[in-house]
Amino acid sequence: MSRNFQNDLADPDHFVVTMELVPKGESAGRSIDTAHRLANDALIDGRLSAVTITDNPGGNPSLSPDVLGREIQTNGMDVIIHFTCRDTNRAGVESRALQLKRMGMPNILALTGDYSGKGFGGQGAPVFDLDSSSLLCLFSMMNEKSRARGEEKFYYPGCAISPFKWTEPEAFAQYFKLCKKVSSGANYIVTQLGYDARKFQELIQIQKQFQINVPAIASIFLLTPRTARVMNSGRIPGAVVHARLLKKITQEWATSKRAGYHAAVERAAKLAVIVKGLGYRGIHIGGVHRSFKTVGLILDHMKEMEHNWQDYLCEFDYPQSENFYVFDKNLEKDSTEVAINHTTKTANLYQRAHFGLLNAMHEAFFRFDSPHAGFFNRLCKRIDQNRFGFHALKILEDGFKKVLLSCRQCGDCGIQHVGYLCPESKCPKHTRNGACGGSRLGKCEVHKDRYCVWYLAYMRLSATGRAAEMATGCVPPRMWELNKTSSWINFHLQRDHQSVSSNITRFCSINACRVKLD
Ligand code: SF4
Repeated sequence: MSRNFQNDLADPDHFVVTMELVPKGESAGRSIDTAHRLANDALIDGRLSAVTITDNPGGNPSLSPDVLGREIQTNGMDVIIHFTCRDTNRAGVESRALQLKRMGMPNILALTGDYSGKGFGGQGAPVFDLDSSSLLCLFSMMNEKSRARGEEKFYYPGCAISPFKWTEPEAFAQYFKLCKKVSSGANYIVTQLGYDARKFQELIQIQKQFQINVPAIASIFLLTPRTARVMNSGRIPGAVVHARLLKKITQEWATSKRAGYHAAVERAAKLAVIVKGLGYRGIHIGGVHRSFKTVGLILDHMKEMEHNWQDYLCEFDYPQSENFYVFDKNLEKDSTEVAINHTTKTANLYQRAHFGLLNAMHEAFFRFDSPHAGFFNRLCKRIDQNRFGFHALKILEDGFKKVLLSCRQCGDCGIQHVGYLCPESKCPKHTRNGACGGSRLGKCEVHKDRYCVWYLAYMRLSATGRAAEMATGCVPPRMWELNKTSSWINFHLQRDHQSVSSNITRFCSINACRVKLD
């Protein structure tokens, strides 16, 4: 094997380069041959640390990255396997993790995943039994188990982040979730796609401010008019191409395909030297589907350009309409403590009243440190043993929660982690640890007419000065064995995630990052 991703990332003098391969829905054929050829050419070139392989991109079925990765790794190229939570429940996830260990592939990019796409007979069931944070916890705890047996830790997971969010709630929701992911065990960060240099800088500065000390790798994509159009339309969750940039690219390619291609390579190289100058530890090149020559050209151009990286900053100035940045412009690259642009958001009257009522109820009835906790425990024990009492309480709980939360009766309530909103009914991916990367100008990736539940949670928590709570502690996954039971009784009898899975919460709180907004 020519290079090793983990060794390269551990070497502060080495600028890491990876390339994304996208298998298609076939087990053999042109797309698979091309992926092998690209990986082989990368191996011969010797400048890439690894290739990364996508996991059913867009939610549509394709050859398993584990299989393709194994073949590529056997040929000598290191691989990073994308691992999403969309298609399998936690048993399937754990089984796949064991499979990767057996196959000798430790490098993982842990993702919540895009929403389900279409497969055999129509759209697949969106599973999302875990989210990226709990997935990272799973890998970390599997590593701990190995250590306890006297073995080396095996898994080396990383995570994704989308700094290209243009409203305050979404931007902070991303950075808070990043804190959770890193405290859950992410060893490195890979950005989503975007073309605004100030947002790239924002992430590096946030890492300093929140003390998120893991290397960041920036995504660099070879933009063609077609891919730019798709990204501009919002069809690729989290990827952002401004209308002005789309126009520019369309004009470049209209002159001639050759001119358009060269402009695309040059743009990729310019953005790559900018992120290197800003302090990123590597780049992740995507959008190269035919020939490795393109990657070689980008890397050659980088060599020529890197000393003048600041000259290109003005070419990557693409704020979106909402235009929110966490830091002021012209931030010094090396500044460590700078003011965060954080305004206390004002949720509307309904949101404030709803939050106030549920928060008051939580404080009064659902705290283990409350002086009445013992009384509630005894009361719930009695109700639990009495059929009539149990059904009466269940009818009351279901009615109350249906009206206020559109409750799905999961029995393992998580509203206290989401600003007193229901993660089961209000988030199509049921995320309990923070926003996925798919929201756009505050709206949900799946239901584009609705606000993302994490956008609303930020507004509600921020209005009471509690927004930073979104960054702390990771929330264990929902306990399906409690489905359709009383979450009130489950809490007081310590049957729910807060008691049973407290080892997960404890694990994440050891490395919790420090977030201060005020
Ligand atoms: S988290 Fe579960 S119990 Fe709580 S409101 Fe949502 S569905 Fe109901």
